[in-house]
Amino acid sequence: MIIGIDDTDSNEGMCTTYLGALLIEELQAYGTVEDHPLLVRLNPTIPYKTRGNAAVALKLKTDFPERAIAHVLSRIKELAHMECEKTNPGAVFILEKDYEKLKPVLRNFLEKAVRSVIEIEEAKNLIFECGISSKGFKNGRGLIGALAACGAMLNLEEWDYTFEHLAYRQKERWGTPREIEKESFFEADRKTYPETWDTVDLTNRLVVCVPHSADPVLFGIRGENQEIVTEAASLIRGEPVGRFAVYRTNQGTDMHLLYAANLAEIQDMHSYRLEGTVLAFPKTIHGGHVIFPIRDKEGNEIDCAAFEPTKNFRLLIRKLRPGDNVALSGSVNSGTLNIEKIEIKTLSPLYKEENPKCPNCGKHMKSSGQAQGFRCKKCKTQAASKILHQIKRDLAAGLYEVPPCARRHLAKPLVREHRSDVDIHPAR
Ligand SMILES: [Zn+2]
Repeated sequence: MIIGIDDTDSNEGMCTTYLGALLIEELQAYGTVEDHPLLVRLNPTIPYKTRGNAAVALKLKTDFPERAIAHVLSRIKELAHMECEKTNPGAVFILEKDYEKLKPVLRNFLEKAVRSVIEIEEAKNLIFECGISSKGFKNGRGLIGALAACGAMLNLEEWDYTFEHLAYRQKERWGTPREIEKESFFEADRKTYPETWDTVDLTNRLVVCVPHSADPVLFGIRGENQEIVTEAASLIRGEPVGRFAVYRTNQGTDMHLLYAANLAEIQDMHSYRLEGTVLAFPKTIHGGHVIFPIRDKEGNEIDCAAFEPTKNFRLLIRKLRPGDNVALSGSVNSGTLNIEKIEIKTLSPLYKEENPKCPNCGKHMKSSGQAQGFRCKKCKTQAASKILHQIKRDLAAGLYEVPPCARRHLAKPLVREHRSDVDIHPAR
């Protein structure tokens, strides 16, 4: 059977992946956990998400599905942060006999949960129509992620994926400051990058794979395969690890992106890859956010933003000029695209006015006075007006991304874009 779980965490602690790691151990009493557990990130723009909008799916080979279901539900009741208003757990159980029937239905549901917006009622209706065994707690919003995670497990061959090695703290340390040797993360990065990524942010000298919240996660290493994330994790030094799990995940795949042929079709709470021409100089607004408008061929416009947390990425964005052609990817909220990546396709030429050069000696001529034109004193040559001289842009065409410290879970890092063995094209 496939077990999907979502929304057991709160901003104060717990983590659905931790519950998943516990269940992987405990469910061995009822059968065998097969394949990798899945960590599925859903639409990053949904406002009611708790921390990362992550759901989990496990595959269990068992002769005792009822007992396994009862165990999962009792653990959710015990461990989920039910007192938190935003915590509304959901669990979904797909029996093996229903795999084929539910595969296409839940594939569509997964895509919608990652790229669009699903209401709780839609999840409940699907559960009812298909006769899926499930349990929603409180308002049952977690049923959405639980169904989507099951859809991912049923359609593993359909999508790009990466891995994350999640190490969890010993329970008695939860809520206390994490004891880690920062340098060991930089070492692990040096030894395993580019097959792992977002362990550290070299430009901003930060360890980015260690959370700051009270949840049980000590660190998470993201990478291309199980071997490499495990190797990197083995290089980390710090407080003792309570338990760990290696998840297969849609993180770092750009699964959330839709292709927008036309800016008119763009909607809030969706993420896109889109193209346009920079319409005005980027402006830095209150809070340090950098914003500029782009326009497509039909004349539709949208504001694009590099927000303050994107740090040094804003220096690049400030160098854009009207007329530059760009392709951007990111999420749209309040009519503004939050940039995750930018491809600068062509740069508009930049000119500077300067005094004309003397055709004889090559030196710049001097002004002869207001509206008097220009002349070279030495050669007595003359010219009527200033000339435009093309100067080099302080920016090169190419692909750029926000630093690791500002990366969205689902955003595909450029280090993966450049690999030839992964699909670089977003959904159409
Ligand atoms: Zn001259």
